[in-house]
This record gives sequence, C-alpha cells and structure tokens, in this order.
Amino acid sequence: MRRKILVLLGPPGAGKGTVGATLAKIYHWLLVSCGDLLREAIRKGTKTGKMARQFVEKGELVPDRLVLELIGERLQRENPVGGFIIDGFPRTLNQAEQFDHLAEGVPYAVIYLKASDDFLINRLAQRRICESCGAIYHLVNIPPRHSGVCDACGGRLIQRDDDRPEVIKNRLEVYHRQTAALLDYYRSRGILFEVSGEGKLENTINEIQEKCAL
Ligand code: ADP
Ligand code: ZN
Repeated sequence: MRRKILVLLGPPGAGKGTVGATLAKIYHWLLVSCGDLLREAIRKGTKTGKMARQFVEKGELVPDRLVLELIGERLQRENPVGGFIIDGFPRTLNQAEQFDHLAEGVPYAVIYLKASDDFLINRLAQRRICESCGAIYHLVNIPPRHSGVCDACGGRLIQRDDDRPEVIKNRLEVYHRQTAALLDYYRSRGILFEVSGEGKLENTINEIQEKCAL
C-alpha cells in the first residue's frame, strides 16, 4: 500500500532533516520540519517564537501547546495531495496522540533513524546550516561548493546555537528521556521501520524506500 505520510523519528543529528529534504525532492512531497518552523518563528519574533526561544536555546523541548499550534497551522495552510514528510514531530506521547487526530485516519509510517550518541556528538559538531534557507551541510560529508556559502541560495552558513557541545549533550538526554518512549508506542502498532542513520545518505534513502515500499 502506498503510504501518504512519513514521520521521521530519531535522536538529534541522526539525519532527519537531510533525509526528509531528499525524500521530499524525489517524491515532490511537502516537507514539514518542526525545528525549522520553530526557528522561523523565533527569527521573526512572533508570539510563539518568543515563548519557544528559551527552550530551544537550552536544548529542551518546547511545550506541546506551542508546537501543536505551529504544526496544526502549517498542515491546515497546505493540505498536500501527494503526501507529506514530517521531521521532528511528534516528540512526546502527548504530541503523538494529537498527531493521530491531525492525520485524520490517513495511514502513516514512522521511520526510526538510529545512531549512537558518540556518533551523533561528532556529526553535530560538523553540521552547518544556511542562515537564509535552512539547507543542511556537513563540513566533511556534505560540504558546500564554496566554503561558508550555501549552494542553493548563496546564503551564509552558520552553526546552529544549539549545536554547541553543551547543548548537544542536553538534547541527547532529552531525547532519551522524552522521545525514545515513542519507539515502543509505534513499534507495538506495527508502523515503525528501523533504518541506520550512520551510513551514507544514499544507503539510508535506499533502505527507507525498500522497507516502506515507496
Ligand atoms: P534535532 O532533531 O537535531 O534536535 P530540530 O531542528 O528538530 O533538531 O529541533 C531543534 C529544537 O527545537 C529542539 O531541541 C527543541 O527545542 C525544539 N523542537 C523541535 N521539534 C520539537 C517538538 N516536536 N516538540 C518540542 N520541541 C521541539
Ligand atoms: Zn541557502
């Protein structure tokens, strides 16, 4: 059966953003990144952004209420016909339950991108993002054509504030404490597909396409 919704789940740095962008491009699906929505709200200084900022800076989860508001709004604004990929949401059991309502009975698959903490700490230290369009780079594995400049839009590449080592450690702890519980929740429903996030992007994409019969 062709599934219309893919949820990307996994620790910070497992590659949800990169994998999501790649799949969205291949299938012309809408990519909804919860982290990008939050960063956009913070940058624009909206009411939600102002409330979310302190949590994102510390690597804590933003309260469910704020996240649900942003995601709900986004999905309402653009109801994709082809399907969509959602990155970084749900992240708590409460969000997962709310997501079931938002999905309105459309079956979905959850892809669990797996990687060890040591691997993630290393990879996140090398991550850079485009200040303007949010494109993701890795200094060694996905380097930009010109150092410090985005291939897609010419924007400046920066390190995310929350990719600093102290914050990374907290984000991993928060993941293990609050998000890992979702794995059993989805596994018991038979919709969890495990894929290694440590390999090459190409292999990860192939594995997802095979396992989810895309
Ligand atoms: P990563 O998955 O690499 O941590 P994201 O861009 O998905 O990066 O998230 C960055 C930050 O945004 C998180 O550390 C958290 O503060 C906040 N955030 C993102 N998604 C959620 C969510 N679903 N619920 C609560 N907070 C979130
Ligand atoms: Zn860019």
